Order: sequence, then C-alpha cells, then structure tokens
Amino acid sequence: MAKDFYENYIKNRTRTKSEEKPDYLAVSKEEIAQSIADSIMSKINYNTPSTDPVLYDLVITDGMVIVPGIGVTHSNIGIRNGKIASITNMKIHGSNTVNAKNMYVCPGIIDPHIHLGLFSPFEVEVETETKAAIAGGVTTAGCFFGSQVSHLESFPELESKIQKLSHIDIIPHLVIGSQTQKRELKAYVEQLGITSFKLYMNGIPGIIEDIGDGFMLDVFDEIKKISKPCMVCVHTENREVVRRATSNIQDALSESATIKDWTETHPDMAEEEAVNRLSYFAKKMGVHVYIVHLSSKGAVKNLKAIKADNPYVHVETTSPYLSINHSTTSSSLIKMEPPFRGTDDMEALWEGVRNGVIDTIGTDNVTMTTTEKNAQADNLWHVMPGYPAIETHLTVLLHEGVHIRKIPIEKIIEKITKNPAEMFGVYPQKGSMLTGSDADITIIDMDKSKKVTAKDLHSRSDFSLYEGKVLHGWPVVTIKSGKIVYQDERLTGEKAQCNYLKR
Ligand SMILES: [Zn+2]
Repeated sequence: MAKDFYENYIKNRTRTKSEEKPDYLAVSKEEIAQSIADSIMSKINYNTPSTDPVLYDLVITDGMVIVPGIGVTHSNIGIRNGKIASITNMKIHGSNTVNAKNMYVCPGIIDPHIHLGLFSPFEVEVETETKAAIAGGVTTAGCFFGSQVSHLESFPELESKIQKLSHIDIIPHLVIGSQTQKRELKAYVEQLGITSFKLYMNGIPGIIEDIGDGFMLDVFDEIKKISKPCMVCVHTENREVVRRATSNIQDALSESATIKDWTETHPDMAEEEAVNRLSYFAKKMGVHVYIVHLSSKGAVKNLKAIKADNPYVHVETTSPYLSINHSTTSSSLIKMEPPFRGTDDMEALWEGVRNGVIDTIGTDNVTMTTTEKNAQADNLWHVMPGYPAIETHLTVLLHEGVHIRKIPIEKIIEKITKNPAEMFGVYPQKGSMLTGSDADITIIDMDKSKKVTAKDLHSRSDFSLYEGKVLHGWPVVTIKSGKIVYQDERLTGEKAQCNYLKR
C-alpha cells in the first residue's frame, strides 16, 4: 500500500502544471453545566458519610480534578463498572487506589483528528498507534476513513478490527468523495451510526481527490435531510491557489526547494479564502462544519470575525502547528500539507486558542517511518507529507501552552476533551468528569520533565517531530473504561474492550 501511495504521490507531485443554539447538542450547554455542578455538589457525593461502606473498583484520591467547562476541584473519584460513580471530597474506598496528590486528573484526552492504516495495514496501526495513544493520555480518537467503494461495504471490516485490536475508542469520520458515497450519507447515519464526514476542498495529489463547490453543496443538501445532528469536517484550502503556487515554485526552484519554499506552495491566501467560502456556504445552508487543521494567521483573523455571527463554524488546529514552524528546523521530516508556516502564524494560532476562535486541538497523525516518508531524499518534492504525533500530543500542549504561554490548564483540557466530544456527539459519555460518564481518565504531572526520543515512544514509527526536546508536563497514568492501562512509564498490559462510538 505504501508503495502505491508513494508512486501516486510522486507522479502527481512532481508535475502539476497545468436562534442559534448549536443543534448537535442533545442537551443545552447550560443543562450540562448544571448537571455537572449538581453531580459535584449532590448529596450522593458531598453528603456521603465518611464511613461510606461502598467499595469502588478503583479510587483516585487527592487529585486536582479538572471538570471541563466548570473548573478545577480538589476531589476523590470513585469508579465502578467502567464508569465514574462518584466525585467527592469525602474519603472513599476502592479495591484499587491511585494517589493523585499534586496531579491534575482530567477526562481521557480525545484527539479528534488521526489517520490510521495509510502506510501499513489498518490492523497493524489500530493496535500499535492506539497503544501509543494511551501512553500519551489519549483514550478516544476521531479517525478519518477513506474508501474507493461504498462505506457500507468497507466499514464492517474496519469495525471488527477496531473491536478486536484497538486500545482506545474510535469516532469514525467518513471521507465523502464519490457520487455513491454522497448518495449514501443517510444510510451511513442510519445503518452505521456515523454522523461525521470529511470533504477535501484541496486534496493530496495522488492520494486524495479534491471536490468542487457543487459537490460540497450537494453534500450539504443531503445532510439537511438527515434528522440526526451531523458534522461536516472540511480540509479548507483553495485548490486553484495551491496548484498555481506549487507550479510556480517548481518552475522557479525545482530540486533546490527547501522546507521554507514548501510553505509557499500552499500560500496563506489559499486557506484564508477557503475558510471564508466554506463559512458562507455553511451559514447559508444551515449546516455545521468543522475546519480541520487550521494553520495560518490570516485564517485565524478571518474566522474571528466570521464566528462572531456564524454559529455553524467550528475550528480545529493541531498540536504540531502550535509547536513547530518552518524556522524550527530545515529537516524535511516536517514536510506536511498544509505546511508548517512562520512563528507569527504559530503565535496567531495560540491567540486563537486563548480567544476561542480555535475550538479543538488534534494532531492529524499519519504514522510513517523515515523510510516510508522518504525523508532522506535530496529532492523535497519526493518526500511524503505527514508525521506520527498522538503520543506527544498532550505533553506538547502542556509544555507549550500551560508552561510557556501560561494558558490555564483547564482551558487547554476543555479543547481536547469536552469540545471535541460535543462536536462529534459523544458528550457527556466522553470528555466529561460527570458521574455516569465513561471512566476514561488521564492523570497529569505538570512537574515532570522528560526528553522525547522516538525509541521510547510506542508508535511503530522511528521518528518524532520533537526528537531530543525536553518537554515539561506529562501524562503519568491513563485509565480506560476503569482499567489502568498506562502507569510508571509503561503500558500495564491491561486492555479495555474498545469500539467505535455509534451516534
Ligand atoms: Zn488529516
């Protein structure tokens, strides 16, 4: 598969001349907030007698518990039957206890944007990369699935592999690229319980076809006929602008192009224009859209204005875009689409995290080795875009966001738990510390420092974007469905039964 991918990519890349409440919430934000507040303050919890005879399966004591959307509370957590059963300041007892003194305790991290099975079979990566995920505190991931045929034909096999091999729960997002897939949108919702989809306004040459505005509007029409709330994820770049710029740079620089020149093949203008156009269509049609991997300063600025009166637009960036820019290194390991841009773009994205333009943060993980990436090639045009990043996702955000830029930890956590859970219809089962929510929990030590090296990471890849960098703030315990799956810097060998989340 990797070989086909590579050949197609090279073939196409080397010559290309040529009332406004979001209706995806089952309950209102206010109701959820109240319910969480009730949950924390209820008699079951704070009035539970200290001689509580109830024995939990697992108790997390003395932690600083981050309740997304509410704040931080110093509490104990009781877990029973894989669910959060109590959040209380009373002493509680369990068959097993984790002491979280001086640590933050938060919902398991949701990475809303990963790809699995592109450079090696899905059945390999759904195991290796989801182990890497739990080592990084990630317990649920949104995974994009493309298919040459109907998803009704291809998805059942993926489902059985997820059930058998995955260490985390998966939110599937189906790529809609053909007339058949467009016609079947309603069937995907009704028969598969999948309500999030993906469109590429600009594809990846040789790998993913892009679609035109007409196709996008047809998809929006179909979505409007579906009664369940749906989300359309969109790769937002103007394809004509990218093609023209790529062609110009190839003509001018050919094999001498550097990673900085690569940035210019996908000019800011391509993203800026596409977010405007998409937002306009979304509002006009009344369809919720989710802009994946926002990368440019100009697009952050445009979206700030757009979001002021357009409730249909939701925005994601990635931890790599928040931590790496084209001045960080000249290595072709950072070749990516859209490309890493300048330091001012990176800081504008952080400003978007602070001011609410950015709703969620993912990784856009595409696992590959240096050989599969062809990173040693002299010619940049022959290097594949992409990188592995799930395991370093949380620590990078803690280091860059909380330690360096002094953003409150609860604000970052909200964007990687509650917000993606709400947008993809799995809140409060996921992304919540509410009693009754799944006991997917990540414990964070903000004082822990560790140097990143690919050798210590669990991905099947052999490189990391952060190789040799000391990061401050790490997940130290991961709990999946009430089971401790990562502790003391190792996978415990426990595995929770995981699945894809039907919506
Ligand atoms: Zn992606």
